[in-house]
Amino acid sequence: MSTATVSLRGITKRYGNRPAVTDVDLVLLPGERIALVGHNGAGKSTLIKLMLGLIRTSTGQIDVLGADITRHKASAIRADIGYLPENVVFPPAMTGRELLSFYARLKRRDVAQNQSLLERVGLVDAADQRTSTYSKGMRQRLGLAQALIGRPRLLLLDEPTTGLDPALRRTFYDIIDACAQDGATVLLSSHALAELESRSDRIVVMNRGLKVADGTLADLRALARCPTRIRADF
Ligand code: ATP
Repeated sequence: MSTATVSLRGITKRYGNRPAVTDVDLVLLPGERIALVGHNGAGKSTLIKLMLGLIRTSTGQIDVLGADITRHKASAIRADIGYLPENVVFPPAMTGRELLSFYARLKRRDVAQNQSLLERVGLVDAADQRTSTYSKGMRQRLGLAQALIGRPRLLLLDEPTTGLDPALRRTFYDIIDACAQDGATVLLSSHALAELESRSDRIVVMNRGLKVADGTLADLRALARCPTRIRADF
């Protein structure tokens, strides 16, 4: 039996006739921090949505947390996945605390744990404010707290640090490191390879729907034979 958290085999996703992702193989292991990097439109969000079962693959097989989600609905494993979408939006009239309670109930997790999540992301003082009053950084903190409900075994974070100041980015990476040390698989998408290279165990590079590189930073440098090119591109 496979010990992989996620296994993608021969994944192609087309929107109409246009391929968004083409023939991607990818394995994510427990405790790994994977950086998924690429330009706009490279296929990063599409891959993440495929892993969540939010969209269906055109061809290929996807196993997530032991379930073949190409054949079965992904709802059974959703509670074990933490997902922070790009451009997270919350119901404006809800407070941060109410929002976390809503998601904890949805995931059938203990609502009492939410206080420690609020502390972890530094939102205790703002927990009873409506989310409409939150800044971008506060919304991202709340989104991360929501993703962490129930100590998920798989964390899928779609460009979580875009637009955050350096201190908040560090906070995010520290939390991500702790989750991986705890055994979670963390996949984080970004345009910024330079920011991620010291904070990831493996880097997967997408370009126009193709996986063009997959390895450690040292592997990628050896492959490219020109590290400055990778840095310049991302
Ligand atoms: P970004 O960094 O800009 O978020 P990305 O790497 O996440 O980009 P995707 O959002 O996965 O890229 O998009 C990959 C390709 O699929 C793009 O060409 C995009 O236009 C297309 N695409 C994505 N979603 C849809 C959709 N719902 N309908 C049609 N085309 C789509």
